[in-house]
Formats: sequence, C-alpha cells, structure tokens
Amino acid sequence: MKIFYGAVINPTSLTSYSSSPYSLIAIDAAGDIDWIVDDVEPHNLQETLAVKGRIDSEVIALKDGEFLIPGFIDTHTHAPQVPNKGTGGQYQLLDWLKYITFPMESRFSDVTFAKKTYELVVRRIIDSGTTTCCYYGTLHLEATKVLADIVHSFGQRAFVGKCNMNRECPSDYIELSSEASMADTHAIISHITSFPPPSIHSRSHELHEPLVQPILTPRFAISCTDDLLSSLGTLAASHPKLRIQTHISENLSEIEFTRKLFPDAPSYAGVYDMFGLLRSNTILAHAVHLGEDEMDLIKTRNAGISHCPTSNFNLHSGVAPIGVYLDKGIKVGLGTDVSGGFHISVLNAIQNASIAAKIRSMQAGNPLTPRPSMSPSFADKPLPIPTLLYLATAGGAEVCGLEKRVGSFAPGKSFDALLVNVRPEAGNIGLWGHTDSPDIHSLEEQKQILDTWLERFLFCGDDRNIQSVYVQGRLVGGRSFHL
Ligand SMILES: [Zn+2]
Repeated sequence: MKIFYGAVINPTSLTSYSSSPYSLIAIDAAGDIDWIVDDVEPHNLQETLAVKGRIDSEVIALKDGEFLIPGFIDTHTHAPQVPNKGTGGQYQLLDWLKYITFPMESRFSDVTFAKKTYELVVRRIIDSGTTTCCYYGTLHLEATKVLADIVHSFGQRAFVGKCNMNRECPSDYIELSSEASMADTHAIISHITSFPPPSIHSRSHELHEPLVQPILTPRFAISCTDDLLSSLGTLAASHPKLRIQTHISENLSEIEFTRKLFPDAPSYAGVYDMFGLLRSNTILAHAVHLGEDEMDLIKTRNAGISHCPTSNFNLHSGVAPIGVYLDKGIKVGLGTDVSGGFHISVLNAIQNASIAAKIRSMQAGNPLTPRPSMSPSFADKPLPIPTLLYLATAGGAEVCGLEKRVGSFAPGKSFDALLVNVRPEAGNIGLWGHTDSPDIHSLEEQKQILDTWLERFLFCGDDRNIQSVYVQGRLVGGRSFHL
C-alpha cells in the first residue's frame, strides 16, 4: 500500500472541482485507489492513519508547492507526425496532408525509423503528463505494432490504431485494397490484445481493461471507400467494446469533398452512422462545423468529441462551438492533434481551448462576466477553470469510455495521476506566487492558494512542473522518473 499525503485537486463536475490542501490517498498493490480522506490537517494525521489501520505505513508526504491532479487524457494525436511538429502552418487541411503529413508518415514503412522515432515520441508525451493517449499510427502494420509495443513497455494507458486509408492518398502511401486494409486491421488488433496484463488485480476485475488497447481508425471518410467503411462497420458490430476514432468536419473544403464522395449520406456525421461507425465509443476529432442535425445525431449515438483547438487554429480550420456541445450534453475531451497542433502537451490544448471559447464569446458580443454558478450554460461563453480541468481529465475519460477507471480520484478507480511541482526549484520560477509559509494560512486560505496554483499551472506550466507521472499506481514518467 502506497499512501500520499498532501494537496489534491480533483474534478467533480463540468463546473466544479474539489481542492484539499491535506488529503490522504491510499493506493493498493494493483494501482487502484483504496481510500481517500480529505482535509486531514497535520495534527490529525496520525489519528486518521490509526482509524484506517495504517499507523505503520510509509506515507509519501508532498511538500508545500506540490499537488496531485488526475493525469491528462489526450483524446486525439498522431504519433508519426510528431517529427513534423511546428511546420506546415501555411497550409489548410488537405494541402497540409499532401505536402507535410503524408510524406512524413510514409517514412514509417521503415521499422527501424519507426522504433527510433516512437520511443522518443511516447517518452515525451508521457513526461508531458499524458497518462491516457489516443494514438493514430500510420497505415503500416509493422510500424504500428512497434508503436503499441513501446506504449506497452513504457506503461502508458492508450488506444493505438492503424490508419485505414485506401483512396485519395498518394500512390506511395495508400492501402491497395479494402481487403488488405482489413487484414492488417485484424492483425493489429490481435497483436495488441495479446499483450500480457501488467499485474494481477485485486478486485473489480471486470472493470480492468488492459492498459493498451486497439482502436479502429478509419482516417477520415475521404480516405476510405464505401467498401472499406462497410467492412469496418461489420467488424465494429462484432466487437462492441472496440473503440473507434476518426476525424469529422474539420475544414470547409474537406466537408465539401466528403459530401461529394458520399452523395447518399445526409451529412458528414451521417456517413459514419450509415456504416455503423457512430456509437458510444466513437471518438470524433475536431467537429468544427457540425450542423444542428449532426449534433443531434452525435448526441443520440452518445459519441464523443475530441476538441483540438491548437490544430483548429493552426490549420485555419475554425473555432469549434464547444459550449454548444456541452449544453447539449455531448461528451467532450481535449486533443493535441499533433502535428496539425504544434504542441504535444495537453496543457497547450487547455490554453487554446480557453482562448477558443473566449473568441466564440467575443464573436457573439458577450461581455466577460463571471458565470452565475446556478445556471451552467456554456455556449458562446469563456470556459472557467473547473471546465477546462474537467475536459482535460474526466471529460476525456468519458470520451474514451474509461470514466469508471480514470479522469478523477475515487476509491476503486485507477491511480492515474500527476504530481505537479510549482516550487521554485522546479525551474519554472517567478510564475507561481509560491510561498513557503503554509502555516500562517487558514485551511480556507490554503484552498484559495491551491486554486491559484492550479490556474497558473494550467496556463504557465510545462513539463518542468510535472514531477511524477503515475499510471495504474506505477511511476512511468516525469522529472523524478529520470533522476
Ligand atoms: Zn488528427
């Protein structure tokens, strides 16, 4: 049993989180949270441990300026595009694919290159605080196996997909038939599902899905023939738990081309629905320009949206109306969408999700006023800190169908967490208003300080402040991992 004692911030809803300067969190041998007690002030510590029968247990005490939050969930990124990060911003989507993305992805036919690249990519993503990641690989079976192997060996929680793409792609980077695409899809699924489980779990065994799982990845409707989408739909129907990820309604030219390729579909979302690919475990990236009917369809199917604001800005795609989706009760998480997005960190997605919401608000002519707490509506308003934190953690968990396991701290859930360090020695100094004198503050004042640390971390923090990254209770990254 591992017991942490210190400050904990925990998302509780789209509009709230709890902050406790003195929490005890006990982690069992399987990496699940056994129990949590909040607001255990130092003079009550021994008594609380005694009540829990843990008087002799080793307690890991966090320092002033350190706090735990649930790990970040990146609901959309492309591992093979990381080497292109920060380039191609002069293009919109379709040209960017042609001139920047496809040429880089085609290099992953070389398995040695794939291994060298993916090791660096996955390491960087974990150290940036992403405990669960939805990865697109390339169309290559062997390179995508390598990506999954690395994710598995590094201990990250992830969904790894091999792209299906058998049309409207360059002649040297395309699958030759829907049969070949499906054969490789079956092969990657059996490869990933053959990974041994990381440990023997003590309880709620049925809730413990493997850390690394396959995910169906039709790249986007344009790149898949009807035949291929139909085969993927059949495969999905026989595997109800298999997640599906794809792109939707990112860019106006892309939408127009999609409608031309699928004249019988009622809408872009309707294309995926027509082939049985729109369901409660489908992750739809972007959703910048959805029609009202598409929003209703997505809500009816209970599919989730991955909001990728950095990419949406960078590729000139638009500003997704995330507040509208939240008001409709559609599940929303955040995605970095590297390398349409130029940053691998979910912190950057949080920052740009905030800016995107402020742009919607300004465009709507709304004044910047604090949200009345009793009327949580989000459309065309700035997103408050609890909402941003929720989207990056619990919202992402919902989108991935992992809300019972991760995204917040609760007994029985996995301990997927970040130990954040805002102390000056983290090396990101001068940003925090950090004080070394907690004793002079009341509990209420300390909660307010914790709130300030959270906000500053979300907007000014980086991987220097991510001291430890835990997945299923195991230390897998962060600065302390490398000491
Ligand atoms: Zn993408």
